[in-house]
Amino acid sequence: MAAQILDGKSLAAATRARLKHEVDALVQRGVRPGLAVVIAGEDPASRVYVRNKTLAAEEIGVRSQLFEYKKDVSEAEILQRVAALNANREVHGILVQLPLPKHIDAARVLEAIAPAKDVDGFHAANLGALLAGRPGVVPCTPLGCMRLIEHAGVRIAGSHAVVAGRSNIVGKPVAHLLLQKDATVTICHSKSRDLAAILRSADILVAAVGRAKLVTAPMVKPGACVIDVGINRLPDGKLAGDVDYEAVKEVAGWITPVPGGVGPMTIAMLLENCLRAASREKPAS
Ligand code: NDP
Repeated sequence: MAAQILDGKSLAAATRARLKHEVDALVQRGVRPGLAVVIAGEDPASRVYVRNKTLAAEEIGVRSQLFEYKKDVSEAEILQRVAALNANREVHGILVQLPLPKHIDAARVLEAIAPAKDVDGFHAANLGALLAGRPGVVPCTPLGCMRLIEHAGVRIAGSHAVVAGRSNIVGKPVAHLLLQKDATVTICHSKSRDLAAILRSADILVAAVGRAKLVTAPMVKPGACVIDVGINRLPDGKLAGDVDYEAVKEVAGWITPVPGGVGPMTIAMLLENCLRAASREKPAS
């Protein structure tokens, strides 16, 4: 039987509608949520992502500010901007779009963001909180993956979850979130031996590798929940995930499409993180 399609676009739309009500309630309390986005360089994909994020913010009533820099901007200038945004009470969330130009130390810039305003959840303080099971800002894409799995009603506790990819922004955090929900978790990477056999043992498979159609139908356990994080540009210009969608949907129990799966949920979770940050602000007295 063909898999159920996990429609991230419609779940994200429902999430944004819920968040819009939360924004209205915050505004009533005298707090207008504010998101600041910093981008440097001319990477066309980054420009599209940033535009989608600021538009989505405006649509639900979050005030968004965009700070654009040329690719030769200095690290000091970006750090100065981050410091000013940290001090700005009207800004609740700060997002520095990656990748930054090569001469800028991205880790130093991310660490300069006040952890409470780090709506991407990339600051070491927030990643550490996730590891320790303490409250903190959870990275948006991993949070979006969890929402999709939970929305599908897939049983996580006791299941074997396999995460392909171990980046700090996707693979590792999503593995910890699954572990927190009592899955038995395996993390794979480029040096993993017999990837196909490990993937095939997954009840929940999260692919976050960045290799088009790496996960093929024989690598998927029948009935598994397959979450495809990958965004890869094919030579013909089309987008493809890390999963061979057409073939795998005939085997899996649930599957996310690309586009229209994890991507829209990432943006919705960014807005949710921004609202959480704004709701911590005390109303002006
Ligand atoms: P990274 O390049 O940082 O990490 C990729 C990971 O995949 C690494 O851990 C790497 O292993 C592993 N890997 C690479 N090749 C293989 C292989 N052949 N077999 C097994 N593992 C492999 O990528 P990101 O985590 O940043 O992103 C992953 C994908 O998700 C990309 O396509 C990206 O565009 C997409 N993405 C999508 C988002 C969304 O909103 N939908 C948001 C963020 C990312 P090793 O560590 O050994 O090098």
